[in-house]
Amino acid sequence: MRKLSDVLKQQYGKRIRRLCLSSGCTCPNRDGTCGNGGCTFCSEGGSGEFASPAVDVDTQIRLAKQLLKIPEDSKGFIAYYQSFTNTYGDIDRLSALYQETIRRDDILILDLATRPDCLGEDVMNMIRKLNRIKPVWIELGLQTVHERTARRINRGYPLPVFEESFRKLKEAGLPVIVHMIFGLPGESRTDMLESIRWLAERKPDGVKITMLQILKGTSLAEEYASHPFPLLSMEEYADLVAEAFAILPKDTVIHRMTGDPPRSLLIAPEWTLHKKRVMNAITHRISSSH
Ligand code: SF4
Repeated sequence: MRKLSDVLKQQYGKRIRRLCLSSGCTCPNRDGTCGNGGCTFCSEGGSGEFASPAVDVDTQIRLAKQLLKIPEDSKGFIAYYQSFTNTYGDIDRLSALYQETIRRDDILILDLATRPDCLGEDVMNMIRKLNRIKPVWIELGLQTVHERTARRINRGYPLPVFEESFRKLKEAGLPVIVHMIFGLPGESRTDMLESIRWLAERKPDGVKITMLQILKGTSLAEEYASHPFPLLSMEEYADLVAEAFAILPKDTVIHRMTGDPPRSLLIAPEWTLHKKRVMNAITHRISSSH
């Protein structure tokens, strides 16, 4: 298992941090293009609670640095466009925004979170061009390989769409980071590990794993209130993550092993707020299985 922080430190000789930025995009699973209401777990913020509102790049980067309490002139960051679908919208506007971002001398890497159904040829051309300037990472939310769960969480695309986009991105030589969620309603331990095995066969460059978080204002919160379903305990989650790391290829980089829920929005599970404790439980589980 390779942790992102270690990989970046080795590559750049120092700690590299992410600046969370907003592209001002919406999501086709929210605006009716492929669905309404979005994925059931997705909050108002579009699954990214820490970016500033869509203002110009300079201001956003200055505010993001202030948030991290680092000097304004510091360099060496990942520009992370996290919330909503960052390849969905007017291609000329997006192209100009990302060109401006990637050409800054304080940015090392451009990191775009998106959906596999928003990677048409115009978008792929834009990404290829950007990738000639500096590295571009693409993050795709898969969450599960099981269609019945995908329908239940209203993911809004079937698995072959992911497969096709993943293949296209790999052919273009772009690193792909895949998001997975453990504890989705109706999924057993076997289901979750099946998803990881499926993904492992495709050799993703990176993975982000999180526990399902029930956030206020989401349709998942309504579902949970009317038909409560079991949530994983911290120990069960740690055990699953340790097992997932044993299944994933050795050179897949672990970008995240637990989430960072906004305290004010979290309904359950409460333990996800204690990131350090969760990380310790995972580390303990990994070392005791060796
Ligand atoms: S694709 Fe992302 S932004 Fe869109 S509804 Fe799902 S989680 Fe939210």
